[in-house]
Amino acid sequence: MGSRGLKYIVVLGDGMADHPVRKLGGKTPLEVAHKPNMDSIAREGRMGVLKTVPNGMPPGSDVANLSILGYKPECCYTGRGPLEAADMGIKLGAKDVAFRCNLITEREGRMHDYSAGHITTEEARELIKELGRRFRIGEFYPGITYRHIFVLRNCNPEIQTDPPHEIPGEPISEHMIRPRMNEVAKKLNKLMLDSRKVLSSHIVNLVREKQGKNPANMIWLWSHGKRPKLESFKKKYGLRAAMISAVPLIRGIGVYTKMSIINVPGATGYFDTNYEGKAVYALKALEDHDFVYLHVEAPDEAGHEGDLEMKIKTIEDLDRRLIGHLLDGLPENSRIAVLPDHPTPIEVKTHVAEPVPFAVYGPGLKGDGLSFTEKNGRRGSVGFLVGDQFMRFLFQKVKTPA
Ligand SMILES: [Zn+2]
Repeated sequence: MGSRGLKYIVVLGDGMADHPVRKLGGKTPLEVAHKPNMDSIAREGRMGVLKTVPNGMPPGSDVANLSILGYKPECCYTGRGPLEAADMGIKLGAKDVAFRCNLITEREGRMHDYSAGHITTEEARELIKELGRRFRIGEFYPGITYRHIFVLRNCNPEIQTDPPHEIPGEPISEHMIRPRMNEVAKKLNKLMLDSRKVLSSHIVNLVREKQGKNPANMIWLWSHGKRPKLESFKKKYGLRAAMISAVPLIRGIGVYTKMSIINVPGATGYFDTNYEGKAVYALKALEDHDFVYLHVEAPDEAGHEGDLEMKIKTIEDLDRRLIGHLLDGLPENSRIAVLPDHPTPIEVKTHVAEPVPFAVYGPGLKGDGLSFTEKNGRRGSVGFLVGDQFMRFLFQKVKTPA
């Protein structure tokens, strides 16, 4: 698939879409943000609406980004653990299961902080290594700050877990791994509870407590899965693809679909990310790839924090500091798309499973004359697309007159 010789770049503003906000007089952050570059893509290109989260699936960034890339999450999504494990270079056999392993703060039997005060990577590394020495079930792999991986080899657990960020302040006893009588669940629940003793007496935590910081006094295992079966992007579309993202989950999708993973210095996945650097590296990647997937996490973080001003700023930064540079340097034979993966509305503070607006500009696509907003997505000439229809629209052949 893909028109001969065309280059493609997809700019993904994570969680950028929103609901009407009272403080903005019923407008959305996309409607009030100054974003001339996104607007020109929409105006001179075509708009539509895309359903990224299949019915009954959680509106996670992993699920939504898989959909956008044309993979069916219903068939290939197994959990967050294996995607992040891939980004960390952990090899999983067909029967191995990877869990996301958070370092959390437990207080009086409750989930006090899913991130243990955003513990530093250096501190966390000491703690995860100690757990590896003390416990013989499974393998602990240290990651970044509170986010780590736990692997069980040769196992097929029929169990359910709860995401720690979704149960703030709740008794942990109500959210342990289920069903409780399952042998693997029993073993892992015991491991989580036993981790408290090892962690709370560790010097790293004694120092953190003294400094008034949340101690990482327990692990929380969740979102497990086996290695997902994902066809390579090259095989699926015949295009050489590159992925730029600071988020391990998204990079993991790139690893399994065999994209080139491009590291950009100063890309943080947060408000302080290196927008300009991402643009420079994306343009460079287009020289020897046909397709670049450029993911920016910042608007989603602002949504989770309920920070309206910051959300508007992240959209303006993405527009001026990244998309502006892309448009300046983009080769003529390119199509550029801009879209969020899901809304992370300011007033909801978490992801919702609603369709998102998209805009695509480039050869063969006539202008809709609209600005880039949620409402205009619904007015766009492309209409309502589902899942892999977006990639097919992006890659459609340029029609030449007979
Ligand atoms: Zn997302």
